[in-house]
Amino acid sequence: MTRQLIYSGKAKDIYTTDDENVIIAQYKDQATAFNGGKKEKVAGKGQLNNQISSFIFEKLNAAGVATHFIKKISDTEQLNQRVEIIPLEVVLRNVTAGSFSKRFGVEEGIVLKTPIVEFYYKKDELDDPFINDEHIAFLDIASPEDVAYLKEETRRINRILTALFEAIDLTLVDFKLEFGYDKDGKIILADEFSPDNCRLWDAQGNHMDKDVFRRGLGELTDVYEIVWKKLQEVK
Ligand code: UDP
Repeated sequence: MTRQLIYSGKAKDIYTTDDENVIIAQYKDQATAFNGGKKEKVAGKGQLNNQISSFIFEKLNAAGVATHFIKKISDTEQLNQRVEIIPLEVVLRNVTAGSFSKRFGVEEGIVLKTPIVEFYYKKDELDDPFINDEHIAFLDIASPEDVAYLKEETRRINRILTALFEAIDLTLVDFKLEFGYDKDGKIILADEFSPDNCRLWDAQGNHMDKDVFRRGLGELTDVYEIVWKKLQEVK
């Protein structure tokens, strides 16, 4: 199989395959935060995130969510459908934390009666600004129908994953999704789902996600290892 690097991201490298509609995502041993402001090599992280994200995407596929995930092909690699990424980070919050708490001056840990969906414009040079439906229309990023679909689908994914993590005594506090258009123009879930882009709190309130790295609370792979062990207990 001839492969060519087509994109090198902070956590993954993307390669072509012989099928123009299929790419290989290779997960890297690198952790970054604050838009690349903090960056470290973390041995074993690529393998853990590939395992965790493959597991979650398999569950989502089985639940009928349309995703780019095809299969895991090695410790650090998976096959994905090629998509044109919609430049939006779709964030869903079940519990207040992080930038939400900062922006609105509220403590972390307040359970939201209704989960809140937010959009951020994926543009590194602008630091991924907060963006609303009308900004998305003005910038012609996605149609109002597509935006409605992204919100609805994100809430559905939240219901599936909240239940999954609840079963292993972890609270899904918030998470970030990315979607893309597949070869037929259909919107499917892309990117990854791992403790790099969600917040998970255990019953004691310990951070079991990238906040360990962002906030210097301990060894990132130690907690990712626990999350992966717990996920393997899920039927
Ligand atoms: N998130 C992400 N990538 C980003 C920004 C946020 O994956 O570039 C995730 C983050 O891990 C968390 C959720 O989105 O699970 C909400 O993050 P928040 O807006 O609170 O920002 P942060 O506090 O991480 O800067």
